[in-house]
Amino acid sequence: MSKPRVRFAPSPTGPLHIGGVRTALYNYLYAKQNGGTFILRIEDTDQNRYVAGAEDYIKEALEWFGLTPDEGPGYGGGYGPYRQSERKDIYRKYAEQLVAEGKAYYSFDTSEELTQMRTDMEAKGVHSAKYNYLTRGQMKNSLTLSAEEVNNRLASDTNYTIRLNIPQDEVITFSDSVREQVSFQSNELDDKIILKGDGMPTYHLANIVDDHLMEITHVIRGEEWLSSTPHHVLMYRFFGWDAPTFAHLPLILKPTGKGKLSKRDGAKFGFPVFPLEWAQEGEETYAGFREDGYLPEAVINFIALLGWNPGNDEEMFSLEELVKIFDPKRIVKSGARFDVEKSKWFNQQYIIKTPDQELAKQLASLAEAKGISTDISYLTSFAGLMKERVEKVSEFFDGGGFFFAAPAEYDEKTIKKKYKVENEPHFRAMIGGMKDMGQFTANALESYVKDYISDNELSFGQIFPILRLSLSGSMAGPDLFETMELLGQQEVLNRMEKGITYFQNYKNAANA
Ligand code: GLU
Repeated sequence: MSKPRVRFAPSPTGPLHIGGVRTALYNYLYAKQNGGTFILRIEDTDQNRYVAGAEDYIKEALEWFGLTPDEGPGYGGGYGPYRQSERKDIYRKYAEQLVAEGKAYYSFDTSEELTQMRTDMEAKGVHSAKYNYLTRGQMKNSLTLSAEEVNNRLASDTNYTIRLNIPQDEVITFSDSVREQVSFQSNELDDKIILKGDGMPTYHLANIVDDHLMEITHVIRGEEWLSSTPHHVLMYRFFGWDAPTFAHLPLILKPTGKGKLSKRDGAKFGFPVFPLEWAQEGEETYAGFREDGYLPEAVINFIALLGWNPGNDEEMFSLEELVKIFDPKRIVKSGARFDVEKSKWFNQQYIIKTPDQELAKQLASLAEAKGISTDISYLTSFAGLMKERVEKVSEFFDGGGFFFAAPAEYDEKTIKKKYKVENEPHFRAMIGGMKDMGQFTANALESYVKDYISDNELSFGQIFPILRLSLSGSMAGPDLFETMELLGQQEVLNRMEKGITYFQNYKNAANA
């Protein structure tokens, strides 16, 4: 078998939806597994829907995930250009070729005439009428007009289109690696426009011409393109070209399992639907996995399993492992539910797996954005202490803010329940004892505090919660003694001093 050439062919009409990332991923995996080529092609023939910034966004997202194309705009390759807008002169001749062979035709109908046709058909009981074998005979096109009339119109009408001449009464069958045999009755297909009034090809023409010229062997794309495939299969036949192998990926469903995941679901269910944040002036901002604190490895792992499974219970896979084990035969037909909790679980697993130093680097830029001044060695220890307690990188500072600033307030319930005025001398004594400690390590602190408790016949419950409260302001946080070690002697003593004074005054005032 020759090495596969696959393409990810997004239209730059906005940010890349997570479903698009999965399409890119499956293409990438298939290419890499077989020593093939992963191509990025920008399908920007629809100038009305073109959105500036979308192409850069797509590339940045692919690179964030490590899905860097082997060929594409800005990536080199011998089959370029890879932006369809830069190839527009290529397509017309293919459309004209089909017209010359009777497989396509010119159509000159105005939009009023098209509307009229639909109304007339509706009156005859044909709902959502198409431009097809039933109607094309009554319309203004090169099949119904004389050759002379056609030539006159071609010379004067700048807005004519070219439509595919779909054969009647034929079953069009093709194989799809996800669905096996798929069949469409040709009478259900419309005579799709392949070249528009502005001279630009439609998606259908540009897509198959480019797949042919770029020697694409496998078309792996979303299920929403399945209904266009019979048209594509016909065009391959019309041109006498070999069609690539098709694989249509299942839909990604909302967390409720009902309906397709949409871009608005992110805000609705409180999770990102896009890889990176999309913020454009005058437009709604969409949250991104990256900004929300997800690691790219975690998102890749999670979305790889949306519509595919390895056939066993294993679920943690790096990109390299996926390249090895990805089996397109295991792609499923039914929609895959986007499980938000599962996405967080994966992220947590990857955060735990990431070395503290790596995490610290990411935390450093977050800290900077938050105006927190710290250093990398402090952040490394901080990452190690906190990483089992967060699901997203962004949560490190939410739960661990006290590592960077003394608490501004204390949880009142804990003061009321746990602080006893009669224990004040013990806390003061411990502050004194800790001042004299030579080694301010977690182990030394643990022995010191535990010994103090047993020597003075106290209980852990009288001391631990209050110590913690004075340091962090609440009962939540990583191991008490490791926290103390990281905060450092002076900071711990200051916070204890301040906390105990505050608790003592609080209780005295309440008792007065
Ligand atoms: N441009 C189409 C899209 O935006 C490509 C579909 C295909 O892969 O054929 O998804």
